[in-house]
Amino acid sequence: MAKVSIGLRGWRFDEEEIISADGELKPLDEIPEEPRERLVRLVGLVEEPCDVCYLEHGDAEIHRCAQAEIVYGEPGGEVLLCPTHEPDFIYWFREAGGSDHTGRQAFGDRFHEWITAGNEAPDGYASVEHVEEDPGGLPDLPDQTEIQQRVEDEFEGDRIDIRALAGENPTDDESADRLDENDLADSGVDLSTEYPSNR
Ligand SMILES: [Zn+2]
Repeated sequence: MAKVSIGLRGWRFDEEEIISADGELKPLDEIPEEPRERLVRLVGLVEEPCDVCYLEHGDAEIHRCAQAEIVYGEPGGEVLLCPTHEPDFIYWFREAGGSDHTGRQAFGDRFHEWITAGNEAPDGYASVEHVEEDPGGLPDLPDQTEIQQRVEDEFEGDRIDIRALAGENPTDDESADRLDENDLADSGVDLSTEYPSNR
């Protein structure tokens, strides 16, 4: 089964799980839960800066941060990297205990702490790793912007369906009003949960 990346290098998807026979992104409800969670998460990550750049420059000099091109880790606990800083991550993961945190939400935090403590990959680690880690770039995929738009559209559609469903079966007028309000509030909460702003 072919593995593909979308938007950011690093996270790999089974092509058959997310891409239909005609080369389009499948509807979200036909994608298994785990890759779907990462796909939805990706939409909120593709415009973000590299974590290491951000730790160096912060909001005050956000313009000096490179946009992330690589993502590793778990949804919600991921590490975002630019190509310049990927060797620091690879070194941390392989040589400095980073792999011990694989599969944990704290994965990203542990790497950020290592960087904040002043650590980095030794000189020379970069060029060697780059050859090994990027054999041919990303495979051809449907247009990136279109995929993002479809994920966002379908995510929006899910929320609207939930609201409509809640309004269809009111036990009385009062509970119908309450349900609508709660549902609107809930949808807002859900959105911030799916797209936390941790920067
Ligand atoms: Zn960077």
